[in-house]
Amino acid sequence: MSSQPTSPKDGCVLFDRFGRPVTGVRISLNPSTLCNFNCIFCHSEGVFDEPKDIMTASEIQRIVKVLTKFGVNVVKLTGGEPMLRRDVLDVVQKLGELPLRELSMTTNGTRLVELAADLKDLGLDRVNISLHSLREERFNFITKAVKFDYTLRAIRRAVEVGLTPVKLNVVVMKGVNEDEVEDLIDYAASLGGGEKAKVQFIELVAEGAADSTFYKTFHVDLTALEQRFKSLAVEEKVRQLHLRHQYLLPNGVWVEVVKPMHNSAFCMANNRIRITYNGQFKPCLLRGDNHVDFLTAMRNSDDDEALAALFKKAVWLREPFFKPKEFPRYVKQGAYSTQPLS
Ligand code: SAM
Ligand code: SF4
Repeated sequence: MSSQPTSPKDGCVLFDRFGRPVTGVRISLNPSTLCNFNCIFCHSEGVFDEPKDIMTASEIQRIVKVLTKFGVNVVKLTGGEPMLRRDVLDVVQKLGELPLRELSMTTNGTRLVELAADLKDLGLDRVNISLHSLREERFNFITKAVKFDYTLRAIRRAVEVGLTPVKLNVVVMKGVNEDEVEDLIDYAASLGGGEKAKVQFIELVAEGAADSTFYKTFHVDLTALEQRFKSLAVEEKVRQLHLRHQYLLPNGVWVEVVKPMHNSAFCMANNRIRITYNGQFKPCLLRGDNHVDFLTAMRNSDDDEALAALFKKAVWLREPFFKPKEFPRYVKQGAYSTQPLS
């Protein structure tokens, strides 16, 4: 295996050893356990502690600035619940100063009624808001949070201030909300549809064992739903980021089906690296054994070259978790390289 290149030029994008460019980053603003909801399918435990070693807003800006030098220009903020960060406006303001193509956030809608306009002004482009049911009792059952009315107001506010397209994230569960697909699409239409409100139907991912009673009780395979959307669609497009298809339905609403990423096509199309709330690059969503810590280096020195080297190392470590059968012909030995941005 060839060694890592040492000095990619500014304005070039990094490719990993498998020929995948890295152009996006998903940043957890707090740990997955830090949330005011307690959704039945999430590994969050409704914990509300302030974690230690959390990256500050300035540290987040500093690392993203380093990444932009390598062509990373799409940033997604997530959590836990990102809106629980007291300094969320500061985080968005600092990222809003960087040359990004898109800055977005996935949230349960907390504080959005009050903060949506400021977030937009400071540079947030759009949001995904989780809305698993349009029926209050079901919403409460799923989220264990009595926030139904507030969440609907948050969604309306996000559309109003232009955090669009607002994507409604719906985790579909057998016997719970699977009968609400049409209602949720109609709801998106009532918000304006098109580039204002879209719906993402998400297939339940097993947080523990796939043969757990919970998973077997609630999991629905969304393949048939996607086929139905495909047959009804008046237009279809494929998102570069995940090779996911988006379908425009006759009522003017774009829908998307998010299947678990247990497939090689997803892995090979993945051009996003993750950053944990405590300052580590996470080269693969499904692995916890190859994180690259940059927070220590960042706190010990002002040298951004050292951070760039750690980013390069993390990109070097990227490897598709699920590899295509014909994988060997995809491998370009020493293909970790820089290429001019197109
Ligand atoms: N707290 C925010 C929220 O819920 O929107 C952001 C973090 S949450 C982990 C990101 C997305 O993952 C949400 O849309 C959530 O519904 C979804 N999600 C969480 N656990 C899931 C699971 N077991 N299967 C499928 N989707 C899940
Ligand atoms: Fe998990 Fe998001 Fe639900 Fe919180 S709102 S419990 S982080 S899915």
